[in-house]
Amino acid sequence: MKQWEQYFRKVVPYVPGEQPNQPGMIKLNTNENPYPPSPKVKKAVEEFKTDNLRLYPDPASTVLTEALGKAYSLKNEQIFVGVGSDDVLATAFLTFFNSEEPILFPDITYSFYEVWAALYNIPYETLPLKEDFTIRKEDYYRKNGGIVIANPNAPTSLSLELDAVRDILEHNRESIVIVDEAYVDFGGESALSLLKEFENLLVVQTFSKSYSMAGIRIGYAFGAPSLIKALNDVKYSYNSYTMNQPSLYYGAEAVRDSDYHKEIIERIRKTRARTAENLCELGFTILDSRTNFLFAAHREVPAELIFEKLREKKIYVRYFKKPRIDNYLRITIGTDEEMAAFIDAVSGIIKTSILTNH
Ligand SMILES: *Cc1c(COP(=O)(O)O)cnc(C)c1O
Repeated sequence: MKQWEQYFRKVVPYVPGEQPNQPGMIKLNTNENPYPPSPKVKKAVEEFKTDNLRLYPDPASTVLTEALGKAYSLKNEQIFVGVGSDDVLATAFLTFFNSEEPILFPDITYSFYEVWAALYNIPYETLPLKEDFTIRKEDYYRKNGGIVIANPNAPTSLSLELDAVRDILEHNRESIVIVDEAYVDFGGESALSLLKEFENLLVVQTFSKSYSMAGIRIGYAFGAPSLIKALNDVKYSYNSYTMNQPSLYYGAEAVRDSDYHKEIIERIRKTRARTAENLCELGFTILDSRTNFLFAAHREVPAELIFEKLREKKIYVRYFKKPRIDNYLRITIGTDEEMAAFIDAVSGIIKTSILTNH
């Protein structure tokens, strides 16, 4: 070991779903949207003047925060934007979680929370979800350094009703509560309506899922002006120009096209219902998804085997070899055609493996 290595920051990084790139593959493993972004985004890309790239972008991201403010009826001072919600969440952890008390989040949730807590030396405690993967809200009625809840949750796909979120906020007026709403547009209840009542609430959303712009990397947070200012102070302390100029324009165009946004969400919800029905018929148990993915376990055939066999057919879903969820598959909702091909493949795998006794 070199002398200096002892001073390296030791981290165990988050592992995203694999990003294969094979002809003919069906990619249902990282919850991307199967439809293109708004045609307004396409037009903005075509019309973007490259001469604009000479200049630094607007550090306050005004074009985008104004578009978001208009769409969600908020003031600029209530909006923070970052490089995907991962960046927004990482900045929020760094900004708000400096207590000696542990921050709290469920044992089964977005696995990045643990990674940021470890990176920033934030003490944390994971609270077990109930057997049916729902949150016991009373678990959060205790001293803590902050709370993070993904709602709807990943990878379970379940939504926590707004009354329970309100309850958790009411019992935690002394700490910051972050609600990660990456999937809320697909059928969850947003905590946005609680902002008026709770100055300790930060709602985080993203362009990656419902807006179909994972590649552009934009996330945003809504909160009281005092929280947004604190986030900006931290951001300006390490990089004033996190948001590149084109993405600010493209994001603003996407937000302005709410009709298109609604339309692709509705399409995904319909495909989700059909796919869930098909999987039930094949002997799967499916949780009540409010997201753009299904969390499914087969009654006889192990998830890992189905995952491997699908992979051989270049159909990628997500499998977590983790306690409690190692017999589940997380399946992103693609187009109707992709899901038909997926169901076809799964049906074959199930039949063969039951016939041959795995
Ligand atoms: C996808 C996802 C994010 C991060 O999305 P970005 O692409 O960084 O905006 C955050 N939280 C959850 C629960 C997610 O599933």
